[in-house]
Amino acid sequence: GHNNLNAKLVLLGDMGAGKSSLVIRFVKGQFLEFQESTIGAAFFSQTVSVNNATVKFEIWDTAGQERYHSLAPMYYRGAAAAIIVYDITSSDSFARAKKWVQELQKQGNPNMVMALAGNKCDLEDKRNVTAEEARGYADENGLFFFETSAKTAVNVNDIFYDIAKRLPRA
Ligand code: GDP
Ligand code: MG
Repeated sequence: GHNNLNAKLVLLGDMGAGKSSLVIRFVKGQFLEFQESTIGAAFFSQTVSVNNATVKFEIWDTAGQERYHSLAPMYYRGAAAAIIVYDITSSDSFARAKKWVQELQKQGNPNMVMALAGNKCDLEDKRNVTAEEARGYADENGLFFFETSAKTAVNVNDIFYDIAKRLPRA
């Protein structure tokens, strides 16, 4: 029926930021301290219900390594939503996240719902990116922002539910 929606979602961000861990927390409710690194990309699907609608996410978890960069457009092309992930303990990963945002703004679907995830927020004592800085950046660029932890599950479901709510309805 018209209350069912399929939505392609892509995760982008630096290697090690926690993209796979966020997806596995969301889809399987699990966390691994030594998550295997992704080769190319991995596919997952998960359905959520919001506002009397059912959204089936078709999730592409990409590898952040530079050598796969040329493949990235295959994953974000036609995507209804993107989660750009950085690690709050790494300024480099935040800089890399901004590059992904720029690329999506130039090449992505103009109606794409974009979320910025500052992951590993359980590692407060190693923090190198403030929430204020990231929130300011997100506000300026039309993204919504959460700090997440795949380890403790903080804000992980929330980010996917928020995306589901913001998706344009047919
Ligand atoms: P990816 O390369 O972006 O897919 O990153 P991974 O999901 O493979 O995670 C890289 C490493 O960071 C793994 O050792 C994970 O266990 C760890 N990790 C991922 N998310 C978190 C988190 O929220 N908190 C902590 N403490 N570690 C995390
Ligand atoms: Mg991965």
